[in-house]
Amino acid sequence: MEEKSMINIKGLHWSYGNEKVLDDIDIDFSKNNIYGIIGPNGSGKTTLLKNITRSLMPKNKSIYLFEKDIIAFSNRELAKIISYVPQNTSLEFEFSVMDIVLMGRTPYLKRLQSESFNDIEIAENSMKMTNTWKLRNKNIGNISGGERQRVIIARALSQQSEIMLLDEPVSQLDIHHQVEILNILKSLKLEKKVTVIMSLHDLNLASQYCDKLILMDEGKIVKKGFPKEVIKRENIEKVYGIKVDIIKNPINEKPHIILY
Ligand code: ADP
Repeated sequence: MEEKSMINIKGLHWSYGNEKVLDDIDIDFSKNNIYGIIGPNGSGKTTLLKNITRSLMPKNKSIYLFEKDIIAFSNRELAKIISYVPQNTSLEFEFSVMDIVLMGRTPYLKRLQSESFNDIEIAENSMKMTNTWKLRNKNIGNISGGERQRVIIARALSQQSEIMLLDEPVSQLDIHHQVEILNILKSLKLEKKVTVIMSLHDLNLASQYCDKLILMDEGKIVKKGFPKEVIKRENIEKVYGIKVDIIKNPINEKPHIILY
């Protein structure tokens, strides 16, 4: 079955001043997949995600969304298609969890228009899916890190976008909460056909949960493809500078890294 291309990146470069951070990046993201962007600290993962969400404005003709240059979309149009869960979201403490999740509906509201019953229902469903409904009246400052991460994902879900980008969504969480979030993303793909693109530090979780992986190093793509094509001894040893062995996870057959 041919996969429908959603985001097409062609020859993307990015520099902060004189520092070249993304160097000739080509990636084709297609519908209904979970993509993991992996690579050491400073390899350019966040900068890549920020270019796709236009938090950093890419050069023209380097990122296409549904075959149209991404820079040609209005902010509102883009927010209906792509939602973003950044790292270390700073949140105003006076907001309730409900307020935060309802913010996901902003792209659909006219100026000064308040949320309709439909918007509230969508927010409620997003909270139920992320197991945050019981927190709805709590102040965002008074919940745990894992709960806050689920609330930010609920806000992104309320945007009802076909594509969700997340920057290291589980790196601050314990294994229970990591698996919980990754399972939510998996069910979004399966039930709502959402395309998920996320950076991940944990290579074994990336191997297990992602359909495709993109391995970056020093602003370049070293390897992209199925986990079994990317999580290979030579790739991991070269990029991370450590000695590893790769075994097949006996439960799901995915490549699994073990350390010497
Ligand atoms: P990763 O997400 O893989 O850790 P980043 O995209 O955050 O990588 O960073 C890539 C490189 O860009 C790093 O060398 C980092 O120091 C640099 N960098 C990131 N953000 C900025 C910035 N705002 N100004 C200057 N340099 C930056």
